[in-house]
Amino acid sequence: MARQSARKVAQAKTTTIEPKTRIEKAAGASGASVTTKSTKVTIVTETKVEVTETRAPKRKTTPTEPEFDGEDLENASPVEDKKPAPKKRKTTKKDAENTMALAARTAVTSLKRAMYIGAHVSAAGGVQNSIQNATHIGANAFALFLKSQRKWVSPPLADEAKTQFHDLLKQHSYDAGKHIVPHGSYLVNLAQADKTKATQAYDGFLDDLQRCEALGITLYNFHPGSTGGAAMSEACARIAGQLNRAHKATKTVVTLLENMCGSGNVVGSRFEELRDIIALVDDKARVGVCIDTCHAFAAGYDLRTPAAFDKTMAEFDAVVGLKYLRALHINDSKAPFGSHRDLHANIGTGCLGLRAFHNVMNHEKLQGLPMVLETPIDEKGPDGKTVENKQIWADEIKLLESLIGMDVDSAEFKEKEKELNAQGASERQKIQEQVDKKAGKGAKQGTKGKARGKKTKKEEESCDSCGESD
Ligand SMILES: [Zn+2]
Ligand SMILES: [Zn+2]
Repeated sequence: MARQSARKVAQAKTTTIEPKTRIEKAAGASGASVTTKSTKVTIVTETKVEVTETRAPKRKTTPTEPEFDGEDLENASPVEDKKPAPKKRKTTKKDAENTMALAARTAVTSLKRAMYIGAHVSAAGGVQNSIQNATHIGANAFALFLKSQRKWVSPPLADEAKTQFHDLLKQHSYDAGKHIVPHGSYLVNLAQADKTKATQAYDGFLDDLQRCEALGITLYNFHPGSTGGAAMSEACARIAGQLNRAHKATKTVVTLLENMCGSGNVVGSRFEELRDIIALVDDKARVGVCIDTCHAFAAGYDLRTPAAFDKTMAEFDAVVGLKYLRALHINDSKAPFGSHRDLHANIGTGCLGLRAFHNVMNHEKLQGLPMVLETPIDEKGPDGKTVENKQIWADEIKLLESLIGMDVDSAEFKEKEKELNAQGASERQKIQEQVDKKAGKGAKQGTKGKARGKKTKKEEESCDSCGESD
């Protein structure tokens, strides 16, 4: 049994009244902000309540792979790392009903910049539950898996789930067209050359897009795929071909290519590859990019200093075009710069560091985009079982929001930067040693004439599904 801790949390109560003006009072904000854009009135009132919550005593720093227990999207988590998944405690319906918000949503109008920050939340029990899971952590944007991402065939979207999804969206004032970015299945590889496998991949992909449209969701993010050993240009052409088909079979959903961290057979770790796919897409309004900060950094795009960040953004603009950037995945990286390893770290604790996220949060051109955390939240309890501590996301959302307009020379920033940096030190060192060891081996193999591109199966798989296999 984990340690019991009593904490004060804000409980948000939302009342919706038709029509015309929206009034929101943000957590910690003084006074209410008013906007006349909305067609309804939402009054968010808050009370401070004492909550006794079960919390694990120690923050676990090793991420687990995305996991589903059964058909119900149980324990869906986007942390992209392929290690054997530890057993998790099942979330029961009772747990969900009894849980009060860990943080109230911040009114975006109260921020100096319109940044919509959230996390990839669970859709256990049905897609409609993702909305409450998002409000639970104070998220103004979120991602989810639309169905089990480990299975090729899932039951169709239930009418009841769809109705509830729409009702809850309205109730909680999320814009499904702007702030929800479902993540595609890891099984789908649109670059697949084998005809039967390509059909299976396309069918799974199209099914996801159709679910998006049924739910009123416009943005959909997926991993471009793997060449399977073929030429990169061929793979890009196959991906674009499948996208063109899928766009014709649907009406509104915009497919977002996620940048990857891998090398070799992985498609999308270079901006040029994203550009080449987009170039072959017929309807340019239906394609975009989702930048993952961890992947970019591990692929060799620096974000740590303001100058490096601006350079990377300028490069993206020159190669792909900023107009295609529609969403971001906000993750720190346990692995060093250019290591091609996909190991998400909590904000400020990784090799990117807090300054990189200050750069993100203060970049004018990123305003209005959904920003989704995929950081690890698993902790190990004294009983050895892994539990998710969603307070980590609630805190990270508030931390990112606090960086907007923050002076990097202030004591507040410096102290936070130092604290988080120290928190991740041992994990960074561990991964650095692994990377150095691998580089040493690679150098030896290189002298034996091992050509790049002729990777082992294990190496090929690493990053193909956005995770490391070792
Ligand atoms: Zn991803
Ligand atoms: Zn990602």
